[in-house]
Formats: sequence, C-alpha cells, structure tokens
Amino acid sequence: MMQVQNFIGGQFVPSVSGETLPNVGPAKGQEIGSLPRSWVPDVDAAVRAATEAGKKWRRTSVEERATLLDRIADTLAQRAESLAALESQDQGKPVSLAAAVDIPRAEMNFRFFAGAIRHDHTDFHPMESAFNYTLRRPLGVVGLITPWNLPLYLLTWKVAPALAMGNAIVAKPSELTPLTANALAHIFQDIDAPPGLFNLVHGLGGEAGQAIVEHPDIQGISFTGGTTTGAQVAATAAPMFKKLSLELGGKNATIVFADCDFDKAVEGAVRAGFANQGEICLCGSRLLVERPIYEKFLEAFVAKVAALKVGDPSAPDTQMGALVSAAHRDKVEGYVKLGIEEGGVLCCGGTRPELPAPFQGGHFLAPAVLAGLPPGCRTATEEVFGPLVTVHPFDSEQEALEIANGTRYGLAASIWTRDLSRAHRMAAEIDTGMVWVNTWLLRDLRVPFGGMKDSGVGREGGRNSLEFFSESRNICISL
Ligand code: NAD
Repeated sequence: MMQVQNFIGGQFVPSVSGETLPNVGPAKGQEIGSLPRSWVPDVDAAVRAATEAGKKWRRTSVEERATLLDRIADTLAQRAESLAALESQDQGKPVSLAAAVDIPRAEMNFRFFAGAIRHDHTDFHPMESAFNYTLRRPLGVVGLITPWNLPLYLLTWKVAPALAMGNAIVAKPSELTPLTANALAHIFQDIDAPPGLFNLVHGLGGEAGQAIVEHPDIQGISFTGGTTTGAQVAATAAPMFKKLSLELGGKNATIVFADCDFDKAVEGAVRAGFANQGEICLCGSRLLVERPIYEKFLEAFVAKVAALKVGDPSAPDTQMGALVSAAHRDKVEGYVKLGIEEGGVLCCGGTRPELPAPFQGGHFLAPAVLAGLPPGCRTATEEVFGPLVTVHPFDSEQEALEIANGTRYGLAASIWTRDLSRAHRMAAEIDTGMVWVNTWLLRDLRVPFGGMKDSGVGREGGRNSLEFFSESRNICISL
C-alpha cells in the first residue's frame, strides 16, 4: 500500500486534518494506497512555503534555473522504468505506453524549458528619443491543477515553465492519480532542490483545488481538466484578476477523404480514437469518412479496433488498459447505451471483457465503435473521454466542416488527404486550436497548444508557456 503525503516546504507531511482518501488501482479495482485529504490550512501552509522560496528563486540566474530543470530531467530519466510502472498502476494505461510516451515526455518537458530559457530573447522597440525593452518578471506563486489522464506528463508541462520563469509552485494533481506527482516531489527532495519551490497538496478538487484557486497570494492558475470545472475555476479566479490558463475538454474530429493513404489513415484513426483508452483530450472520438470509401473504411477500422488487446496494463503486449475509475467506466458505458438509443449501430465493443484473475474487478471496457448516428446527436457531440468512437459519412468538404465544427468544443482535428490544397483549406476553416494533417498527436514543444470555444482559454507550449508564467514589463529609457 502506498500512502502518499503532501510535500510542503521540502517535507512530506500528512494533511492538517489527518484525513485521507483511498487510492484505487484501475486494473484490479482495489485500493492500492491513500492520499491526504487537504483543505484550506494545507494550501495556506503550501503558499507560505512557496512565497518564502519564491523570494530567492526569482532572483536566480537563468543558468541556475536551467541547471535545476536539467537535474530533474536527468533523475526522471534514471527512474523512468519505475515511474512508468507507477503511472500504469495508478492510471490503468498500458505500461508500454507510459514507458514510450508519458515518462519520456515528462523528462523532455524539463529539458525543453531549460533550453528555452537559455536561448530566450526579448523585444526591443527603438524610438528616436528613447528605446523600450520588455523585461519578463515571474508571477510569484502559481497554482497548477491537473487531471488524471496523463498525470506526470501534464503536471511537468506546467511545472517546468513555471520554475523556468522564476515562480514557486503549489500543485494539485488529480485525486485519482497521485502517485507520479508524489514521485516527482521525491525527486525535488532527493536532488536538494530549494525547499518550498515545488509544493504538492493532494485532495479533492472542490476542497484542495478550490482552496488553491481562491487563495489571494496565488497570482496565476494553470488548469487542465474538464470544461465544467474550468468554468468554476474561471468564476472564482477571474474577479480576483489572476492570470488564468484553461486547457479543457474536446470532441475532436478525424476527417478522412477518399484520396487518403488508406492504410495509414485507418491506423491513424485507430490510434487517435483509442490511445490511452481514449482518455486523451485530443482523441479523435468522431470519425468522418468521405462517402466513396465509407463502407470499406468502416470495415477496416472496426476490424482493427476489435483486435486491440485489452487487459493487464503491466503486460508488454497490452494495447488498452483499464479506465481510470469505475465511475468513469459507467459514464462511458452510459454513452454507448445512449448512442444505441439515439439510433446508432454498435459495430464492436462497449462490453466488459472477461479477464482472468486478478483483473475481474478492473475497470475494463472493450473499445466501442458506433455507426449510423446523426452527427448532431448527444453521443456524437458531447465529450465521452473514453474508448468510444462514432463514425459518420460526408459528401463534401463543406459538410465535413459543418460536422467537425458542430460541437461546443474546439481543441483539435486531424485531416487525412493527399490533396495539399484541400488540407490547407480545411485547416484554415476548422475551429480548433490544433490541426494535424496525415498524422495525429505529433508534438513539437515549441508550438502553441490549446483550444478555442469551450476547449479553453490561452495557449501552452514554447513561448506561450514562458509568457503565461511571467508578466511582461515595458522599460522605456530616454536617450
Ligand atoms: P476534472 O475537471 O474533473 O479535474 C481536473 C482537476 O481539477 C483535478 O485535479 C480535480 O481535482 C480539480 N478540480 C475539480 N474541481 C475543482 C474546483 N472546483 N476547483 C479547482 N480544482 C478542481 O477533469 P478530469 O476528469 O480529471 O480530467 C478529464 C478532463 O480533462 C477531460 O474533460 C479532458 O478533456 C480534460 N483534459 C484537457 C486537456 C487539454 O490539454 N485541453 C488535457 C487533458 C485532459
């Protein structure tokens, strides 16, 4: 059993109330440990520690900050194997995925932002009688709130640029996946990072999370999570004039034209639909296929989806693990049922697979494909965030655009075509923050990352992150 604690001022401590929450492992559906149930006093203590540490950290040199980031990256790399096992155990994802994606990316987040500040530059605006330059100053103490789907990957995507720009941190990971955040806190302790620079407060969103957002001494909130929660975070933080970054939900379209590279597009659509059990905000949960190849594509797609190996996340050949919680599996199952009620035909999956001991109590669900649904129905427009893809035919670029843009979300899309002009035309008209052409989830950490409409406010990535975690100040010097 793993009993994690809060990490405040460089020390591991229980919650002030002494209360804990159970941590359930998705693959067996059994308790694997506990975490502190934190509240306002815990957040207060973390903010005090961060404020103290931040006073020194904001005056450190770029090289000092970059060196700390590199040391964290080195230690993540040394511990990669155990971190991947931990992430898989806590989240339910295949260990192979955690080892190939989550943990290397966490390492890369630190290396990238170490490099970014080493090579950063600033604006200079000369006038006839004066010149202006832009000085970037840290915000102070920042609150980082993250979801359960890519726990370490998304936490470090915020921690690295926040530290790089001279801030101190109070972070709250999802209560469903506390383990790798705890492992990151151990890294800070083990490498003798300045105490109080990175504080971790575990607990429920409405308690510990809300206390972070409400805290008057936290100057910026970077939040990744659901759209409803994002609205609540914004309602609290906006009247306090906190800097706010919101990375929220998605209902992304994979748009396949008849002239695509067929095999690549099928493979891409399967990956986009079901990577990480479909629990990625960028997942292509709506598959739009041009009518001339619709039947053939659907058949090939369903065959590949039905063949995905679901089961023990720690087995090296598993392609789909368990969903993060029993409640989340119930939600996805509910959408499969709703889809059938709305007129969809279940082409595969949607049922609980029969697995041997000790996985009978795990939160597994066979990947589901629904065809024949009207594109505007609830199943095809609401975020499910699980292993369910709806498939729809279309007859023209215009129709594909209307379906793709026909949701409240605007996070990402992928387009599969050999016609480059069409790819440009479509990419310019799709209302999303990111568009991939003939690929999916290919990431360059320099590019803007984020969504429009109800998928969020602001962008992360490269300079966007550096700018979010700092205030720009204009200095005007008379000549
Ligand atoms: P969630 O909104 O339930 O929780 C996210 C985090 O917010 C958790 O740490 C939670 O404890 C905390 N929280 C909950 N209520 C809060 C409150 N009132 N104040 C402050 N914090 C609060 O989301 P989730 O279920 O953990 O994650 C799934 C969602 O995250 C999906 O909608 C998915 O699309 C989204 N997501 C978006 C991105 C992106 O980059 N756009 C990436 C990953 C996940």
